Amino acid sequence: MATILDGRAVAAKIRAEVKAEAAELRARHGVKPTLAVVLVGGDPASQVYVRNKRQACQEVGIEARDHVFPEGLTEAALLSLVRELNDAPDVHGILVQLPIPGGIDEARVLDAVDPAKDVDGFHPENLGRLLAGKPTVVPGTPAGIMAILDHYGIALRGRLATVVGRSRIVGKPVAQLLLARDATVTMAHSKTPDLAAVTRQADVLVVATGHARLIGAAHVKPGAAVIDVGVNRLPDGKLAGDVDFAAVEPIASAITPVPGGVGPTTVAMLVRSTLAACRRQVGV
Ligand code: NAP
Repeated sequence: MATILDGRAVAAKIRAEVKAEAAELRARHGVKPTLAVVLVGGDPASQVYVRNKRQACQEVGIEARDHVFPEGLTEAALLSLVRELNDAPDVHGILVQLPIPGGIDEARVLDAVDPAKDVDGFHPENLGRLLAGKPTVVPGTPAGIMAILDHYGIALRGRLATVVGRSRIVGKPVAQLLLARDATVTMAHSKTPDLAAVTRQADVLVVATGHARLIGAAHVKPGAAVIDVGVNRLPDGKLAGDVDFAAVEPIASAITPVPGGVGPTTVAMLVRSTLAACRRQVGV
């Protein structure tokens, strides 16, 4: 029987810390941390994510300002909004919800965000700092994964960690964070032959592929800690991770559920990043 890694509990702890710090910032320095949330189009999943992020901000005393546009907004108009938010002294963080529809070049928009206000940590300068071993802001999902591992005391130094998936927002940054903690890191992806042979080596297995139940019992070393990042909607409407929870839970030592694992910590890390960005900008 594996320990169920409760992301909601970890997230609640982080939000409580941020709430206390935001209250202190307001009381002692008269500053209210403020996050601009930019949403283009009506993608239902994006609307849910943005609602969760807005709610988390409100809970901890961060002001979330919405900038919502229908699909059809031009790239020039979006870039102009981003520049305006970059220059606004009362906006400390900028979040552009992905995916951006309508043929807009996402990389161009993310690259236009002031790195100091990039609370998602997706700007090349912030990703570069992570690679250089001097991170300022780390993308929320990888930071949330590390918070879960640390909360449950899962050892990393000298252990074999495998990350399945190499995206800019999850796989690559989490591999860097694991490496910085002295794990021996292997990265796997869609071109990896015999995935199970690779993943079976792992003491700590992080999976972020977007393929429901890709990882089964044959992929997991008995006693491994398994972090499932995937969020997949099944034909029956239920959510499933990238790991077959029922098959893997009996052999793992620890495992995140979906939902209730990595997802809540991602949002908690966003509010933490916004507070940190605010502190840096006001110099406290
Ligand atoms: P992504 O950009 O689509 O990247 C998926 C990665 O998985 C790619 O590197 C791909 O390899 C690899 N992959 C795909 N099929 C594979 C296979 N059969 N075997 C091995 N590797 C395979 O996805 P993402 O943005 O990282 O997201 C991954 C999942 O995490 C999605 O379900 C997403 O919804 C979820 N997610 C959750 C949170 C959260 O807060 N819980 C946050 C972000 C993402 P190639 O590079 O070779 O194509």
